Amino acid sequence: MVLGSTIHLHNTSMEELLQNRRWLRHELAHVKQFSQLGYLPFLWMYFREYLKNGYRQNRFEVEARAAEYDESFDSYVFIPSSRQSARIS
Ligand SMILES: [Zn+2]
Repeated sequence: MVLGSTIHLHNTSMEELLQNRRWLRHELAHVKQFSQLGYLPFLWMYFREYLKNGYRQNRFEVEARAAEYDESFDSYVFIPSSRQSARIS
């Protein structure tokens, strides 16, 4: 789950996320949505979309699923060195 520019992981690891390129692009698309719309406006719009269209047809989820195949998101990926990831975890 993304809040602002942070991807929050539950029951998984950063290594798993980094190894799953489609999933990573999906979460990065949400980071982009937050930055384009602003933190609270995005949360509000996402919630309204959710009430209207549910999860799957929520336009922000539709956009994030499309981004899973968009290689341009790969340029945003910074893979930490093993020393840095040791510090993070
Ligand atoms: Zn999503």
